[in-house]
Amino acid sequence: MSAAIAARRGAEASGIACSITLLERNQRLGTKIRISGGGKCNVTHQGTPAEMLEQGFLRLNERRFLRNALYGFSSSDLLELLHSRGVETEVRPDGKVFPLSGDASSVALAFEELLKELSVQLLFSCRVRSVERKDGLFHITTTAETLTADAVILATGGVSYSATGTTGDGLVIARKLGHTIKEPSAALAPVFTLKAPPASLSGVSLRSAGLVASAGGKCIERRGDLLFTHRGFSGPAALSLSRDIAELCRDFGSASLFADLFPEHNPAELDHQLLQHARKHGAQMVRKFLQICPIAPSLKKGFIEAPYGTIPTALVPFIIRHALLEIDITWSTLQKEQRQSLLTVLKRFPLGTVRNVPLDQGEVSAGGILLGEVNPKTMQSRVLPNLFLCGELLDYAGEIGGYNLQAAISTGWTAGINALKKC
Ligand SMILES: Cc1cc2nc3c(=O)[nH]c(=O)nc-3n(C[C@H](O)[C@H](O)[C@H](O)COP(=O)(O)OP(=O)(O)OC[C@H]3O[C@@H](n4cnc5c(N)ncnc54)[C@H](O)[C@@H]3O)c2cc1C
Repeated sequence: MSAAIAARRGAEASGIACSITLLERNQRLGTKIRISGGGKCNVTHQGTPAEMLEQGFLRLNERRFLRNALYGFSSSDLLELLHSRGVETEVRPDGKVFPLSGDASSVALAFEELLKELSVQLLFSCRVRSVERKDGLFHITTTAETLTADAVILATGGVSYSATGTTGDGLVIARKLGHTIKEPSAALAPVFTLKAPPASLSGVSLRSAGLVASAGGKCIERRGDLLFTHRGFSGPAALSLSRDIAELCRDFGSASLFADLFPEHNPAELDHQLLQHARKHGAQMVRKFLQICPIAPSLKKGFIEAPYGTIPTALVPFIIRHALLEIDITWSTLQKEQRQSLLTVLKRFPLGTVRNVPLDQGEVSAGGILLGEVNPKTMQSRVLPNLFLCGELLDYAGEIGGYNLQAAISTGWTAGINALKKC
C-alpha cells in the first residue's frame, strides 16, 4: 500500500521524479495476506473509522494512534480500491468483509498488479540485512544488493507465523536506528493449558460465555464463543483474550482461566434466579436443568427463553463434579451450601492454568516499535527523520474481524504519502 500510494501520488504530481523500490524477502508478495482468514482473507470490517477503532482496537492508546490513519484511508476507501481492481467483496452478517471469490490471493494479486502498473520496482528474494543513515541518505544492505534512498518505509510485519517471513528483522533494524522496541508477545493466539481439557470436551464450544483470566489479583474478562481444543482453548473469546493472558503470564508467571456461564448475572442475581427456579421445579434434576439452560441467559428473559446456545451436555457432568454434587440431585434436595457451590462453579468454571501463550501461533503479535516514537499523522519516526514505520511492526494489535489488515493498509497509506514528500 505504501509503495503503491507513493508511486501513484508521485506520478500525479508533476515535478516529483522518484523511483520506488519494494524489497521482499519472499519469492512473492503478500504471503500473509494469502493465508489470512483461512485462505479467504477477511480484508477489512464494515463500518465507519470510529466504529472500526472502537470494535477493533481495545486499548485506548492504540485507538488514538490509529485514528488519523483509519480516517485517512478507511475501510470504504480500501473496498473502493479493491473493487476498482476487479476484486468484488461480500460483507458477512457479522460485518467481516471478504473477497467474493473466497480466494485471499485475489487481494495480494490486486496489489501486485497495481504496483506493476505504477512501475514500482519489485525485488523478490531480497532480504534487508541493515539500514544505515549516512550523509543524508539511507544505505540499505540486502542479501541481493546495496541500495541508497532518500526515505525508507519499514513494513516488515510482526513476529508470529515466522515461516511466512516475519522473523522480526524490522524490529532489529529499527532498534539499531535508535527506536525502542517493546518485547513482542502473542495476540489472537490459541491458549494452551498446563493440563489439557478432558478429551470428551475437545471440540465442544460455549456460545457467548465469559472467559476470565486471573493472576496477581488482576481479573480480565472477554465475552464470546469459546472452543475447547485438545490442548486448551480457541474461538473468538480465547483469541481475543490471549494477548492479556500472555501479559499476565509474563508479569505473574502464570494465569488461571475460568468460564462464566452466566456473564449477564452477578452472583446475587443468579442465586435469586436459581432459588426461584428451585421453588418451581423441585422434582427436576439439577443436571437436566443445566442441559437445557442457555448460556448467558438474559436477566430480563429468564433462564429458558434466551436466544443463545445451551450449556453443552458434555460439560454438565464436569459442572456437577466441580460443585461436589451427586449426579442425580434434584432442586428440592439441594441444600443452600450446595446451591452456593453450584453458583460458584457456574460463575467461575475452572478451565486450567496457562504458563505462556505461543507467540508464533498468533494471527498477530503485540509489542514492537513504541507508538510514542512515531508521528501518527505521518507515520514518520520521531527518532530519525525520513524513516517511516507502518503495519504490524508497530506496538498495536487489533481484534479478529479484518481490523489488522485494515490497520496495516491504513498506516501503510499514511507512510507512503508522507514518505513521498521526502523525495
Ligand atoms: C494465519 C493468519 C491469518 C490472518 N488472518 C487475518 C484476517 O483474516 N484479517 C486480518 O485483518 N488480519 C489477519 N491476519 C493478520 C494480518 O495478516 C497481519 O496483521 C498483516 O498482514 C500485517 O501486515 P504488515 O504489512 O504489517 O506485515 P506482513 O503482511 O506480515 O508483511 C511483512 C512483509 O515483510 C517481509 N519482510 C520481513 N522482513 C523482511 C526483510 N528483512 N527484508 C525484506 N522483506 C521482509 C515479509 O516477508 C512480509 O512479506 C492474519 C495473520 C495470520 C498469521
